Amino acid sequence: MTEIAYISIGSNLNNPQQQVITAVTELNEVLNTKVAAVSHWYRTSPMGPQDQPDYINGVAKLETKLSPEQLLKALQTIEDGHFRERKEHWGARTLDLDILLYGNQTINLPYLQIPHPGITTRNFVLLPLADINPQLVLPDETALATLLESCSSKGIVRLSSGDICGTTG
Ligand code: AMP
Repeated sequence: MTEIAYISIGSNLNNPQQQVITAVTELNEVLNTKVAAVSHWYRTSPMGPQDQPDYINGVAKLETKLSPEQLLKALQTIEDGHFRERKEHWGARTLDLDILLYGNQTINLPYLQIPHPGITTRNFVLLPLADINPQLVLPDETALATLLESCSSKGIVRLSSGDICGTTG
């Protein structure tokens, strides 16, 4: 069965614009998976430690036949290919890929929570999700539009296509 999954994409090291564009290509190459849409790209201030560069963030909509666990493994393989080192929580990273939503499923495993716990409060997730699907409703029936109403626009700038190549932005 094909499911829709939304993936957050972020990078703040080693040419972040290139990292995120390459990540979209690699997501499209994952077995039994295709990228159906990509949001605009955003430049965002870092969460947590402030002594790190700004991030480039966006969201991709996937159509996938992989299970959530298989998809998580595929994302981690892509991250590893970008020489991702897992050091500091919320520290700088070449590439961060998270499963935001997988169909209408709610998953609470030690290694996998869906919807991703950050989804309700992070402007760099909510704004790109709205680019792709403003009507989106979370599994608990919260509307994305409602979350956006209480979401700050502090520290986030939408990039234009001149700022980043090969994107919808
Ligand atoms: P991070 O440092 O944000 O990339 O977190 C990576 C860890 O989060 C991994 O060990 C995953 O098992 C775990 N994780 C839990 N839920 C998710 C999710 N929805 N998407 C991606 N990673 C997740």
